[in-house]
Amino acid sequence: MVIIMLGAPGTGKGTVASILKDELKIPQVSTGDIFRKNIKEGTELGKLADSYISKGNLVPDDVTIGLIKDRLKEEDVKDGIILDGFPRTVVQAEELDKILENQGRKVDMVINLTTPKDEIIERVVNRRICSNQTCKTIYNLLLNPPKKEGICDKCGHELVQRKDDNVETVEARIDTYLKNTSTLVEFYEKKGILRTEVVSKSINRMGADVANDIAEMFNK
Ligand code: ADP
Ligand code: ZN
Repeated sequence: MVIIMLGAPGTGKGTVASILKDELKIPQVSTGDIFRKNIKEGTELGKLADSYISKGNLVPDDVTIGLIKDRLKEEDVKDGIILDGFPRTVVQAEELDKILENQGRKVDMVINLTTPKDEIIERVVNRRICSNQTCKTIYNLLLNPPKKEGICDKCGHELVQRKDDNVETVEARIDTYLKNTSTLVEFYEKKGILRTEVVSKSINRMGADVANDIAEMFNK
């Protein structure tokens, strides 16, 4: 099973992917998380990625594709993977198809999340993430605050804010999404594997609701 999470920043891709990972028992692979880990560790990849990410731009295709190509060879994703944040360009999507085809598999479902822009910005600037790398639970100071300020409910580690989760960078990330990634909606729609979901507090439907519906569908 290969599932792709599509959607602008702050629409809840990570939230949905992390619930599906637990419910369907297949690993979640987030290119953003891989880059952030490398930035933190100061690797060459991290330095390169940071120069793009801090401006709200995409990391170049060759770098990102190489990373995913290697990851898809690993044993733990043999039975399935939830790709969170990849692909983000048509070139990446085409390369992904080739890699999967060589392995005798294909993309099964693309979950496309959409959220009104003002809500995205509000959500992103209020997002906090557990700093424990094996937890990484996502909180929101307005919508889903931790019980104790700055502390993860689940594991007690400190909550942190992503460097790119500020108003200026999120505006740039939304522009980048519209320029590069939104064309993927059509790419996957044509294949008949796209499932679009509106995530918005105005209709009282958040990432967790979407994830639970999809998990139920698969687990039936
Ligand atoms: P969000 O969807 O909230 O912007 P991510 O964690 O998915 O957050 O990505 C953070 C940043 O990492 C992106 O803004 C981009 O710069 C970079 N990135 C992540 N995935 C890719 C990708 N597939 N191709 C190019 N850049 C990527
Ligand atoms: Zn935690």
